[in-house]
Amino acid sequence: MKLHELTLYEARNGLDRGEFSSIELLESLLERVRSLDPDIGAYITVDIQGAQRAAREADNLIAAGERLPLLGIPMALKDLLCTRGIRTTCASRILENFVPQYDATVVSMLKKAGAVIIGKTNMDEFAMGSSTENSGFHITRNPWNHDCVPGGSSGGSAAAVSARMCTAALGTDTGGSIRQPASHCGVVGLKPTYGRVSRYGLVSYASSLDQIGPITRDVRDAAILLNVICGHDPLDSTSADIARPDFEGVMEKFERDGPSLKGVKAGIPREYLSVKGLHPQVEKAFANARKHLEDMGVEMVDISLPQTDYAVAAYYVIAPSEASSNLARFDGVRYGFRETEARDIIDMYKKTKSRGFGPEVQRRIITGTYALSAGYYDAYYGRATRVRSMISEDFSRAFEQCDIIISPVAPTPAFRIGENVDDPLTMYLTDIFTLSTNMAGLPGISVPCGFSSQGLPIGFQIMAPRFDEISLIRAGYALELSLSLEKRFPDI
Ligand code: GLN
Repeated sequence: MKLHELTLYEARNGLDRGEFSSIELLESLLERVRSLDPDIGAYITVDIQGAQRAAREADNLIAAGERLPLLGIPMALKDLLCTRGIRTTCASRILENFVPQYDATVVSMLKKAGAVIIGKTNMDEFAMGSSTENSGFHITRNPWNHDCVPGGSSGGSAAAVSARMCTAALGTDTGGSIRQPASHCGVVGLKPTYGRVSRYGLVSYASSLDQIGPITRDVRDAAILLNVICGHDPLDSTSADIARPDFEGVMEKFERDGPSLKGVKAGIPREYLSVKGLHPQVEKAFANARKHLEDMGVEMVDISLPQTDYAVAAYYVIAPSEASSNLARFDGVRYGFRETEARDIIDMYKKTKSRGFGPEVQRRIITGTYALSAGYYDAYYGRATRVRSMISEDFSRAFEQCDIIISPVAPTPAFRIGENVDDPLTMYLTDIFTLSTNMAGLPGISVPCGFSSQGLPIGFQIMAPRFDEISLIRAGYALELSLSLEKRFPDI
C-alpha cells in the first residue's frame, strides 16, 4: 500500500515501527496536493514549510522513543479553526488576510498529540451551505466525479481525505456539514454531542449548534481523533465537564470477540423514509445497510419524529439569527478587510460588509436580523426555539424505545456543480436528515454504505443519545466491517 493511502491507524503503527518517516508520509501526500489540488480545490492554504518542520520534529521524537496518538500524522483543518500564524479565512474575502494569534483549543490538542498540520481546507463561507460552492475563493470538486459537488460546508476537508491529500481532517457541523460531505465523498464523518469538543477558537456560525469533529478514512480513525479532541475546556463555557470514554476501545473488543450488535435496538423514523425527493438509490443503499445491521443482531423499531416537517424551517430561522449576531463583529474595524473609500464610518461598514461577504452570507445576516427584530422576534425566532425544544423532546421519546436511530445522510448522492446554486430553498431542504441532531445537541456519524449507479458514494447515518458516541462508533464500525466495501478510494 502506498503511504498516502494509509489510514491514520495504519500510519501511526508504521511510523512507530520505523517502517517510514513522517516526512516521507507527508511528502507522498504533498505530491498529491501538487498534482491533484489545482483541479479539486480542497485547500485554501497549504503550509508546506510548517508541515515539513513539524514532520521532522515528529521524526526526531519518534526516534527518541516518544509515542503519542497522532505523532507525525499529516492532517488538514477546515479553515474556520484558528491556527496561530496560519491565515484563517472562513473562505470569506472579509478574512482573506486574517492571521490568528492563537490556536483553537482543538488545534492545540492535535499539536500536543503530535499532529502535523498540512493546511486549511475550503468550505462554504462561514460554514453556510451544503456544497462548498459558497466559498469566497473557489469551488471544490468531488474527487469521485469532478463535475459534482463534494457536499458542504466542510467539503474541502472531506475531499482532501477522500483524494488522499491528508491522512485525516477536522470539519465542523452546524446542521450536517461534517456528515453530509463525508457521505458525498465516501469517507467517515462524526459530529460529536454538543459540548463534547471545545469550540474555543472556532469562528462561530451558530454557536448553539456548531460542533467540531473528525473526517476520516474509517470509523477507527474517527475514534482515535475523537479521543484526542474531546474534553472539558475552561475557555468554552459550553464545553461539558464529563469523563471521556476510550472511543478506540470498541475496536479492540470487536477484534477480540468479532462484531456483534446483539441486543441493540435501532429506531427508523417513519417521517424520514417518506421525505419527498428521497433518491431510490439512496433508499436502496440504506435498505442494504439496514439488512447488514439486522444480520448482526440489531432489532429494528419503527419510531416517529413528528416535528420533522418543521425542522428545516426552524433551523433556517435559528442558525441565521445566531449568525447575524456572531458576524456583526466583522465590521472593518477589528478584523480583516476594510473598505477604505468611504464617506464616513457608516458608509465604511456598509461597503466593507457588502464587498467582504458573499451573497449567501448576506442573505443569512438579513434573514437573521429580520427574525430577531422587535415585533418579529416572537413570530419567528421565539417560535423556532419552541419547535427546537419539541424536536429535542421527539428524540428523547424515541430513545426510550431504541438505542440508536438510523437514516440516510442526505436525500440524494452528490449533485452536480451549479445544479442548486440559484435555488437556496432546495439547497436548504437537503439538510433534512442531519440538522435535527444539531437542534437537539445529539451526536451523529456518517459511514459509507454503497454507491449510486453513477459510482457516487452514499452514506449511512447513525444517531445516538447525548454523550453516547460509543454507540455510534460501535454500530458504525460493525457496519463498516460487515459491508467491507471493496472500493475505498476514487481512481485518482
Ligand atoms: N447546510 C447547513 C447550512 O447551510 C449546514 C451547514 C453546517 O452544518 N455548517 O446552514
